[in-house]
Amino acid sequence: MVDPRSGGQVLVAGSANADMVVRAARIPAPGETVLGGDLTVNPGGKGANQAVAAARAGGARTAMLLALGQDPAADLLQRSLTEAGVTLHVVRSTRPTGAALITVSDTAENAITVAPGANATLAREHLPELAKVEWLVMQLETPIETVTAYAQAAQAAGVGVMLNVAPARAVPDALLAATDVLVANEEELAIIAGSELSIVDRLASLDVPIAIVTLGARGCCAWHSAGMIVQPAFRVEAVDTTAAGDTFCGALVAAFARGDALPLALRTASAAAALATTRPGAQVSIPTRAEVDALLATDGDSAGDVAELARFCGLPIAWIEQTGER
Ligand code: ADP
Repeated sequence: MVDPRSGGQVLVAGSANADMVVRAARIPAPGETVLGGDLTVNPGGKGANQAVAAARAGGARTAMLLALGQDPAADLLQRSLTEAGVTLHVVRSTRPTGAALITVSDTAENAITVAPGANATLAREHLPELAKVEWLVMQLETPIETVTAYAQAAQAAGVGVMLNVAPARAVPDALLAATDVLVANEEELAIIAGSELSIVDRLASLDVPIAIVTLGARGCCAWHSAGMIVQPAFRVEAVDTTAAGDTFCGALVAAFARGDALPLALRTASAAAALATTRPGAQVSIPTRAEVDALLATDGDSAGDVAELARFCGLPIAWIEQTGER
């Protein structure tokens, strides 16, 4: 992995979607129509959310490679990213800008259909010059062959590769082999590492230098060559967990780019993600550095939760009893 103190930039290569959200009493069953509230159209997409999160977290210049159509949704996304301070490398496609059709029920369940559109046109030849890039961040809402080619190019150039394996799908070995930091939620981890072993053993089996699983309101757990780190979630009043994982990834890579060690980077990413759950929406819910610092100054991630989280992840009792640290 590259030296995180070399002062380069973060490049996010990935998806941008217009999130078309309607709230309804319940998610319609197949063949059913339900009446909902007013439609809202918000900037989203895993890649764009992560770029906004990295830029708001501060500490590294953030750029994004994305493919957009020639429509009002493209303007919405460009504006949101630019206002957050993200430098854009836009591939202009003849296909429509990506869109996510989202129904949110009164019980906070959601059903999402993604129309990838322009995102599906991101290709190997679109990767910009990597000379000043320190970290490349990717997700799986763009073609897997492109993601793999970018990861291999980054690895060859000495650029750190962070891969968020979302949405859940199997990942080719060639992509894992070019990944420095892998981030999965519980469902995604089950797809790439099965569900028979403990969480710790599944993370260790992935054969990447750092493997992290996010566990919603429980927190997160990271495996690296020197051992395990567990980080409980900050206790907040969550109203909408959309983009929690994206905020986590963006804040995490910004912390690496600042030179933070893994435990502090995980705590900072957890604080940012917790704040994102306290307000509705995707990019609009992502906190600023000042808000994250204020939460970090509290003990909202109670040390009392460490043993329970460690047990959940399958860490040996001896580890749980011995460690006073996270
Ligand atoms: P995803 O959104 O990708 O499914 P998670 O639900 O695991 O990812 O959430 C990512 C991170 O966001 C968690 O590791 C945790 O730090 C934070 N988080 C998620 N839900 C909550 C919550 N209810 N309260 C506090 N933090 C949360």
